[in-house]
Amino acid sequence: MVVVLTPLLSLLLILARVHADGIHGLGHWALGNLSISIGMLIMMMQFTSTYFAILPATTLYALGLGLYLNGTQAFTEKRPTYGMTVLIVGLVVVIDAFFLWQQDFRTIVVCNALIFMVVNIVGARMLLIPVQPPLRTAYWFTGLMFCLMALVFLIRGVGAMLADDAVFQAMSQWPLNKFTFFFGTIFQLCTTFGFVLMLNYKLVERMRHMAGEDWLTGALNRRSLEDAAIRMEANCQRFNLGIAMLLIDLDHFKQINDRYGHQFGDQVLAEFARIVNGSIRAGDLFGRYGGEEFCILLPNTSEEEALVQADRLRLAFEADMAVFLNKRLDCTISVGVSESSQVGMGFNQLFAAADRALYAAKQRGRNCVVTYSGLTGDADDATKGRMAEG
Ligand code: GH3
Ligand code: MG
Ligand code: MG
Repeated sequence: MVVVLTPLLSLLLILARVHADGIHGLGHWALGNLSISIGMLIMMMQFTSTYFAILPATTLYALGLGLYLNGTQAFTEKRPTYGMTVLIVGLVVVIDAFFLWQQDFRTIVVCNALIFMVVNIVGARMLLIPVQPPLRTAYWFTGLMFCLMALVFLIRGVGAMLADDAVFQAMSQWPLNKFTFFFGTIFQLCTTFGFVLMLNYKLVERMRHMAGEDWLTGALNRRSLEDAAIRMEANCQRFNLGIAMLLIDLDHFKQINDRYGHQFGDQVLAEFARIVNGSIRAGDLFGRYGGEEFCILLPNTSEEEALVQADRLRLAFEADMAVFLNKRLDCTISVGVSESSQVGMGFNQLFAAADRALYAAKQRGRNCVVTYSGLTGDADDATKGRMAEG
């Protein structure tokens, strides 16, 4: 099964490479995979005696692992260090050739296992790094598979080192060898699956970027929000409808990052976006304007309705954050509201007015909603100075 599956995976990676310009490392992984599968095939099929099979098999295996590392470097936008691969292959060839000549199989098994263990640890180190979700899931999964591979090699190496001659002979026999091969191959396949997952998330990221979406929150990015706002403005003008804008900023967000870490902060931002997406209508626009600043455009909405909507969002977020990922968070939002009948239809006018209202909301102690009309006194007494507070 493995012998069939692994080359098929190589083929899949080669095909994926054709349609994934600008994503690096696929070719390395495809070749690495192929090299490992041929190496394993030589070893498992025992075309020739073990004596002659060892050197080509381990050399191809070492080459494959080295290419995995280079592929991972290329994928993560680092320059591949081919010298590292040459070193791994060179070490394996020299050690195996020397001890083959000495007919010392045990040292070959121990040395190879320890070299391969170190290589897998290096691979794990490259991937167990902080990255934004969901790419992180794929990185960490693949990194974990590298760790498991390292563990298999550690067990194999230490086992071979400590075993007495009789046990070592038994270890080299098929039942035990099959056991290591089985787990080794499963984890190796999973490492490649992990890489395919990494590729998948990267392509999704790219598509989202092309679609003008922010990767972390799924909200429109600033450029596409402004483009979409121009279209909304034209539509609303045609039907003589107004537009309201909510400009939202998370309060004291720096403290969340400082206390719980940037990744946790990312999860808070994603959660905020989830709540917004669950509360807006189909025609509304939701964009991420800056780091922890968001903008919502509501067509055919009065200032009063926008104020109600903003306050509902403020309360929903505050309640949701009361316990988030097992932590009690004091995380709130401040919102500035503007509306086109007071400041005009243009995105820039709406934004400038909402920004002033947001600034006032921060001044008034945060966790509140302030309308622009409440600041300027343009509105009648009913809306003047309107502010919803927590
Ligand atoms: P204020 O109530 O006045 O808005 O205080 P604040 O701490 O929210 O505002 P400040 O502008 O001082 O800090 C904003 C912080 O938001 C700092 C920055 O590290 C964080 N931030 C911006 N973008 C991201 C992001 O994508 N992820 C995470 N985790 N943090 C971000
Ligand atoms: Mg803030
Ligand atoms: Mg801010």
